[in-house]
Amino acid sequence: MLKKRFLFIFDFDNTIVDDNTDTYIWKLLPEGHKSLPPQFEKEKHWNKVMRKVLQFYYHNDISVQQVKTCLQEMELTQGFRELMNFIRKNKDQIECIIASDSNTFFIDSILEKQDLKDVFDKIFTNPVQIIDDMEISIFPYHKNECESTCPRNMCKKTILLDNYQFNNYEKVCYFGDGKNDYCPGTILRKEDIIFVRKGYGLEKLIKQKDLECEKVYFESGIDCINRLENLQL
Ligand SMILES: [Mg+2]
Ligand SMILES: [Zn+2]
Repeated sequence: MLKKRFLFIFDFDNTIVDDNTDTYIWKLLPEGHKSLPPQFEKEKHWNKVMRKVLQFYYHNDISVQQVKTCLQEMELTQGFRELMNFIRKNKDQIECIIASDSNTFFIDSILEKQDLKDVFDKIFTNPVQIIDDMEISIFPYHKNECESTCPRNMCKKTILLDNYQFNNYEKVCYFGDGKNDYCPGTILRKEDIIFVRKGYGLEKLIKQKDLECEKVYFESGIDCINRLENLQL
């Protein structure tokens, strides 16, 4: 296989899609609760909260198909259709992956609906088991010892270090919005670029403690394309 010059890494929630998949499906809770009913609130590990929500759906006959249909209403972030097409056009030079704390079922449902499966070479996220077409069960991606603010079930820096050698690429581009995108940002080199969604947690963290790589702040995927067009792809 021909070596690719660029590695593109995408977060999913609030980066590719314009909302959070985990909280989006709370719409299916009784009376369309905007926040979680009290029985879920005591749990402080996010992973466990989601497990409980999905168990609640199972016990209340909210089907896997309903969850899927709900997720498939979600929209891409502004300009990301164009950004995905830009990557497609240059796929011979770009290795493209997702690293997300969502899960395989949520991400696959959306990529399928948005016809984006061909854009990504690999997806690193929490695995899911669908039991008897009835119950969705999410499992932690891994356990990690990261001392940054990463959740216990996922450190994206660890994922990248375990699976990729940045030195094999001319440039690494990381696209993200959230707090858990800061830790992988710390291993980006001077020649790499982090694309940071304006107005979200990652932007604040970078303002507090700068990263070594180039920073591009975006509101739309078009802002990202404008920077990428200068890469001589
Ligand atoms: Mg995110
Ligand atoms: Zn970490």
